[in-house]
Amino acid sequence: MKPIIYDYSLEQLQDWMKENGEPAFRGGQLFDWLYVKRVSSFEDMTNLPKGLREKLDHSFQFVTLNEITRLESKDGTVKFLFGLHDNHAIETVIMRHNYGNSICVTTQVGCRIGCTFCASTLGGLKRNLTSGEIVAQVVKAQQMLDATGERVSSIVIMGSGEPFENYDATMAFLRIMIHEKGLNIGQRHITVSTSGIVPSMYKFTEENTQINLAISIHAPNDKLRSKLMPVNRRFPFEDVIEACRHYIAKTGRRITFEYALIGGVNDRPEHAQELAEVLQGMLCHVNLIPVNYVPERDYVRTPRDDIFEFQRILEKNKINATIRREQGHDIAAACGQLRAKHMETK
Ligand code: SAH
Repeated sequence: MKPIIYDYSLEQLQDWMKENGEPAFRGGQLFDWLYVKRVSSFEDMTNLPKGLREKLDHSFQFVTLNEITRLESKDGTVKFLFGLHDNHAIETVIMRHNYGNSICVTTQVGCRIGCTFCASTLGGLKRNLTSGEIVAQVVKAQQMLDATGERVSSIVIMGSGEPFENYDATMAFLRIMIHEKGLNIGQRHITVSTSGIVPSMYKFTEENTQINLAISIHAPNDKLRSKLMPVNRRFPFEDVIEACRHYIAKTGRRITFEYALIGGVNDRPEHAQELAEVLQGMLCHVNLIPVNYVPERDYVRTPRDDIFEFQRILEKNKINATIRREQGHDIAAACGQLRAKHMETK
């Protein structure tokens, strides 16, 4: 199989040009075609010499994602199901907000983290995505938005998979996204979410970026978290919180804690109180997510009033908390739902 062109950084493209007897600036031109002009074939890169275009075409492949399904919600949310070269399928979502468009990308085919409320992990991990396969999701979404003159203004790495178990590809993806000669997406408009892979959290702390970090915490203590998230047995609650404290101290940046509220499981006032005590004094923000229904799981949602009560308790304790607004309900936009359906019918 030919390498995927989106797997290459600007520097790597420049090196390739040099190795192939071309001036380095050709790498810059190529990068511009990929991420600014966003063409989908080497043929279209008209300021590159014809011979070079042919050589590129022989050396790299372009199309890495085939659109299997595109669902559009009444609220503007768009969900793609993309097929990969090896017949796996992944999901990508565009969310329309009044402040811009955000895109939710997938980093792995399936997932091995095993969270008991999540659809993405049901079939286990199939494989890591390459950085280019992650990049291509954003390019595809941006190409769709180009038709209406819109732009991808923010990215959340909150699709299927655990980005911190596919760390190098995730970082390579991020470097392409924030490159000022490419899509030039503001670092502060990008969030990477992890289930708490502690060694990668320390590594990420040292990256010295402005990219936001979100932690899927989902419980206020070790025991309950282990029940909901098996990964907590590998990286216990205390260690995750410690890694967060270290990140905040080292970077001065605020952490987001994601907390999926599951009826009768982790959503009682005493859970809110306990969470507030754990997070006391930390530079952080809690994002409360009413749990999305997953047919394979028998979890129920927290009643609206109880969600507000949970938020009130956190805020009373000076912990900033918001309730995630929901989008794309009519198109099964939540984690892994579309892929799960697709696998069923295959
Ligand atoms: N593996 C990473 C990236 C996934 S991000 C992580 O765990 O952070 C997706 C977010 O949605 C995570 O916080 C995840 O725990 C949460 N999530 C998964 N299934 C959900 C469901 N059924 N309802 C609500 N949130 C869910």
